[in-house]
Amino acid sequence: MPESALKNAENTQPQQEKTNLLGFSVSRLGDFFEQLGEKRFRATQVVKWIHQMGECDFEQMTNLSKSLREKLKQTAEVRLPEVVSCQDSSDGTRKWLIRVEGGSCIEMVYIPERDRGTLCVSSQIGCALDCSFCATGKQGFNRDLSAAEIIGQLWIAADSFDQFDTKAPRRVTNVVMMGMGEPLMNFDNVVDAMSLMLEDNAYGLSKRRVTLSTAGVVPALDKLADVTDVSLAISLHAPNDELRNELVPINRKYSLQQFIDSAKNYIDKMPDNRRKATVEYTLMDQVNDRSVHARELAVLLKDLPCKINLIPFNPFPGTEYRRVTNTALDRFRDILQGEGYTVTVRTTRGDDIAAACGQLAGEVNDRTKRQQRYKSKLASAEETPVKILD
Ligand code: SF4
Repeated sequence: MPESALKNAENTQPQQEKTNLLGFSVSRLGDFFEQLGEKRFRATQVVKWIHQMGECDFEQMTNLSKSLREKLKQTAEVRLPEVVSCQDSSDGTRKWLIRVEGGSCIEMVYIPERDRGTLCVSSQIGCALDCSFCATGKQGFNRDLSAAEIIGQLWIAADSFDQFDTKAPRRVTNVVMMGMGEPLMNFDNVVDAMSLMLEDNAYGLSKRRVTLSTAGVVPALDKLADVTDVSLAISLHAPNDELRNELVPINRKYSLQQFIDSAKNYIDKMPDNRRKATVEYTLMDQVNDRSVHARELAVLLKDLPCKINLIPFNPFPGTEYRRVTNTALDRFRDILQGEGYTVTVRTTRGDDIAAACGQLAGEVNDRTKRQQRYKSKLASAEETPVKILD
């Protein structure tokens, strides 16, 4: 074979895919370095470079030896999701469209407030739970995001606010796992990504400032306290099983009482006994906004340490639901407050760029076999292996 043909043949050999270190927790990265024949403490150095300094090029990681940098370049990479677009709302809300491997897109939203900046992060492409009032649910389910694709969202936001410059103000102070997807259906990857959010050598967020929100995957919630103690939000949206079965179909599998009991167990296991769950309740006109619903909710939550967040429904194209009226919203809040609950009403933010709660849709490439995927996801949620945080 002529030399040029030989070279061409070599070039067409499939290259071994490099390991993406972006989503590796310190402990997992320690294992990786051990496999390379290196010391475990290199993991802390590399995590600091990637997540504190925003450096993805091994060549620039100057406290690593030249030979280690060379070895890393051969075997590994730090591969980020791709930012397709970034839009700013008139109220300061920022929304990104992010392309992940396989070509689908997810959305991520940043909401600035007086005393904090909250990043709403996605955990899946689409969502299999199909809540009837949710734009994401209407997209169907494609796949779980990897830990790299989840933590990569925080990296992208931090980079866009120059947060890797130590002198720049820290714009992202809180993370809520409330974007596209049900985080507990992607247990391991979400736990790994949250461990980096909390890790002092990475983003160093307080466990009170990282919130996981679930619609009620009870077996996974039962296991969550074994691996993390982040804040918990539970998406209820209805005060009885009959209505919730319609709005949040996973309720047909795990009832409201099972969900509340599981949330209470999680809160009770928290080392700090002042912790409370946040109860998310989206109010829809003439659906779940009556006085009788508010009173039922007050009874349902009586044993759960919680505060209640009322979310006026944000309409999206094709939905049959309407936003709650101001009168019904005030009445609902007053009843709960009268029963002694702390109640907040979520201000609608970013609705001029479709970034308001429940409006995230992204672009899901493959929407087929939703029911099949839904069933297999539920089955695997019941067998979720438990991983221990670093
Ligand atoms: S509300 Fe949450 S759990 Fe329900 S379909 Fe939407 S993203 Fe999924």
